[in-house]
Amino acid sequence: METYRPAGWLEALVAAALRATLRSLLKPVFSPRWSIAFQRRWLSALAHISLVPRSVSINPGDAGGVPGDWLRHGDVPAVRAGTLLYLHGGAYCVGSPATHRALTARLAQGTGVPVFAADYRLAPEHPFPAALDDALAAYRALRQRGPVVVAGDSAGGGLALSLALALREAGEEQPAGLLLLSPWADMAPDTLPPEPPGEAMLSAAWAQACAAHYLGNPPDQRAWVTSPLKADLRDLPPVLIQAGTDEMLHGQALALQQALQSAGVSSRCEITERRWHVFQLHGGALRSADEAIARLCHFARQRLDAVTAPRHSEHEVVIMGAGMSGVCMGIGLNRAGIRDWVMLEKQPGVGGTWWDNTYPGAHVDVPSPVYAFSFAPNPRWSRRFASAPEIQRYAQAVADRHHLGARTRLGTELTEARFDDTTGHWHLRTARGDTLRARFFVCSTGPLNQPRWPNIPGLDSFAGDRLHSARWNHRTPLAGRHVAVIGTGSTASQLVPPIAAQAARLHVFQRTANWVLPRLDRRYGWLDHLLARLPPYAVFTRWAWTQVLEWGRRGFDEGTVARRGMLKTAALHRARQVPDPALRDALTPTYPLGCKRIIYSNDFYPALTRPHVELVTTGIERITPRGIVTSDGRERPVDVLVCATGFDTVQLLSSVQVTGLGGQTLRQAWAQGPQAYHGISVAGFPNLFLMLGPNTATGHTSTLLYIEPEVRHAIACMQRVRQTSQRWIAVRSEVMTEHNRALQQRLGGSVWAQCRSWYRMDGGKIVALFPGFTAEYVKAVWPPKMADYETG
Ligand code: NAP
Repeated sequence: METYRPAGWLEALVAAALRATLRSLLKPVFSPRWSIAFQRRWLSALAHISLVPRSVSINPGDAGGVPGDWLRHGDVPAVRAGTLLYLHGGAYCVGSPATHRALTARLAQGTGVPVFAADYRLAPEHPFPAALDDALAAYRALRQRGPVVVAGDSAGGGLALSLALALREAGEEQPAGLLLLSPWADMAPDTLPPEPPGEAMLSAAWAQACAAHYLGNPPDQRAWVTSPLKADLRDLPPVLIQAGTDEMLHGQALALQQALQSAGVSSRCEITERRWHVFQLHGGALRSADEAIARLCHFARQRLDAVTAPRHSEHEVVIMGAGMSGVCMGIGLNRAGIRDWVMLEKQPGVGGTWWDNTYPGAHVDVPSPVYAFSFAPNPRWSRRFASAPEIQRYAQAVADRHHLGARTRLGTELTEARFDDTTGHWHLRTARGDTLRARFFVCSTGPLNQPRWPNIPGLDSFAGDRLHSARWNHRTPLAGRHVAVIGTGSTASQLVPPIAAQAARLHVFQRTANWVLPRLDRRYGWLDHLLARLPPYAVFTRWAWTQVLEWGRRGFDEGTVARRGMLKTAALHRARQVPDPALRDALTPTYPLGCKRIIYSNDFYPALTRPHVELVTTGIERITPRGIVTSDGRERPVDVLVCATGFDTVQLLSSVQVTGLGGQTLRQAWAQGPQAYHGISVAGFPNLFLMLGPNTATGHTSTLLYIEPEVRHAIACMQRVRQTSQRWIAVRSEVMTEHNRALQQRLGGSVWAQCRSWYRMDGGKIVALFPGFTAEYVKAVWPPKMADYETG
């Protein structure tokens, strides 16, 4: 069971207002004292004030002869097959598709598939089995079109469960998944507990009166009709249950989860604290409702994708990679009116590097206000240098806010992309056999996505637990064990302190000592959070931090005040934190400051001074099944081997076969190292746009400052093609060549040419880093110089 705790004063205020409204407008009417006809009229009247997103169209229609609402988001083809069948709540006696539109419209928006909200027959006019017959008829009709996820709230949740049981009994195909919101899964008399103090809608008397109407006279006694909760639940599809703690049906949600698990059904139960019966109906007003709906949509999308057979689809744009730049590109395309796009992500979640890097201690090394998009400030950062999970949640929240999930297919790896110059389209193939055709292809995988293992003899023979920092296995125990960390870069500096706190013995293998400066971290308090909600303050903070970081760029040039200041600070930091002169010597870098990425840390040096931690500077000769042997012949026994050895930034996009004009592959074009025009366009590869491509990495600011203008640049190029009768756009070959000649000339004399780093190839060519100030890059990229491009 997962518990969610809504936080924040705004959420609390809105929740209090909504609860009071429900208590005064709804609960008194949900009573046997009022006629069912009156209750229905009252609910229909209230339905007029529900918040329905404008992007969703609602049309009356039918499925299998059952009337209902068809809800569709946008006017472009969906990126996935399938439908969501929604069965509304209302104790089988009241309610309609109209009363649930605030929720069903958001499900259409968040899943991207059509939602059919069935207007099934209600009791007392139509007792059991009318509602179930209608649900079955609608399901069977929808199933003809592709996979179906069935969702329902309250009585609709119980009905969805009965539907799945009836299908199983009939030997028919199950839905792709079930979404059960505060399900009423047991109607047997006297099964409802006393009302909890927070219950804002239901009363036991009303529920029992409605159950009597539904079950008929004499009441149907079959367990799967009255109490699906107590039925044999084996072989049901995966289920997601959601409920609140402040509702009478909270206990039934927990009991159902337990029963499903005992029956071997894959199920998840999400309980939101201090929330009432079907609080998701307040989507658009209550943040906790929006977040719960986002999770429902995520589950539905996952289930539909999991059961859909490989298929062909056509879109205007395919985006590969749902990291920060993919998210920014999706939002940019929507804003530009290019809505027919699909984003493919090989991992099961959004966030890119922030999804991959979950090693202990992972956090951003630039201040959080600059690690947020200009259009999506985050007033909720918990500290100045946010943790990796917090950034991943930020990426997810931005994606949810812009409904990108509807157009994103997770767990989908692209393997092949081929440009067809006769039609000007990209033809793409995924690892599971889907084929796609798109006018434009955006690679937003970034430089830090291929983990690099060290090429040390014997690595594969190691018999203990072997981890790479970018693919952390949280089940690997560290406490009380002998751990070795290879590498002392940005990543190692973050994971060494938490590992040192657990391991019995820790050996840190350093090949090159790095420059370490203090991290000016601090926790953000309530005043920061309050101020951060004021747009001028948020804009100013982001701008001010950008200026501070830009000033730091001066530290990469010899003879500047900034450099002198940074060198002095680094020496002082070492002297303060490393009292032992021998250890301090070993930690003193011998290459010029700035050549590799500067590390900002307050706890790396102190961790290395702990008695059970050893800094090993003797070179590694080989790895044995039991440990690491250094060049002096000494073997250190190791249980867990951690490789914090970075990423392959030279073989960019090596997992995809990208073929451009004349059958040339990107691998062939980049035989001498990756190169592009402003890291965005590659000559000979029309309609292809890279995000954070070659020579766009920054040693001093936030990559997000680079992503935004790159997205604008790429979209402007796309618009150029769309607004003319041309089929493609590509950077001119001579322009790209000259661009890179000038870039390499500038880099040749820079600080980055003076040491080995992930910015450089083995031969010395610097392929990852942009040498200038961020402002310089932004100005060069936006607006794009269209004369540098050719179209065809
Ligand atoms: P890295 O900077 O490439 O560091 C790799 C480390 O492994 C270096 O110390 C390297 O030593 C060592 N190493 C590699 N191969 C080795 C071998 N065969 N034998 C011994 N040592 C070996 O990788 P990283 O630390 O993962 O950082 C990569 C980049 O990720 C950073 O520069 C940064 O941009 C990004 N990052 C960002 C954050 C953030 O908060 N934004 C956090 C972590 C990482 P040498 O120095 O001698 O090559």
